[in-house]
Amino acid sequence: MPGDGAKVGVLALQGPARLHASILADLGASPVAVRTPADLAAVDALVIPGGESTTMSLLLDSSGVGDAVRERLAGGLPVLGTCAGMILCASEVLDGRPDQRGLGAIDLSVRRNAFGRQRESFETDLDVEGLHGGPFPAVFIRAPVAERAGDGVEVLAQLDEGAVVCAAGPVMVCAFHPELGGDLRLHSLFLERM
Ligand code: GLN
Repeated sequence: MPGDGAKVGVLALQGPARLHASILADLGASPVAVRTPADLAAVDALVIPGGESTTMSLLLDSSGVGDAVRERLAGGLPVLGTCAGMILCASEVLDGRPDQRGLGAIDLSVRRNAFGRQRESFETDLDVEGLHGGPFPAVFIRAPVAERAGDGVEVLAQLDEGAVVCAAGPVMVCAFHPELGGDLRLHSLFLERM
């Protein structure tokens, strides 16, 4: 199993992270809710779920988890950031709040709410490089895109608006909610890259 008993944290500062946790458990990992720096210290990898990136950024600062993540990133912490998590992982946020502080986990310029009103929420079958067995059912909810990817960043999936799955080393981000489509393959790919 790709998870193989790894302790994988799921950031749980804003709302429940149950769906990510159950997918991780199905893949053989041991999911752990992360709310404090001590929780983070005990995990081998971290999933940053969707939500509201401006609120999550404030909570990352006030809980001390943000700085703890920055420290662990320097040591190669594997991170999967999804939707708001992708925004938080980016080195640059476009249309963010001025006081929004990113984690700088991956060299991307990410635009918040990048799809127009009519496409605020939609589902699409997405071809993702490295995923076998056909397209991935990707659920986009007020999603971001990456308008720029730095050197060394792999773009694994792209729509007209920009890149929607990217990876660099053990850090992977996607603009949609991979936990909502009933498909384990994106989490599995993350665990395989750890
Ligand atoms: N639009 C949200 C933000 O800017 C992200 C939405 C999501 O995570 N589904 O944080």
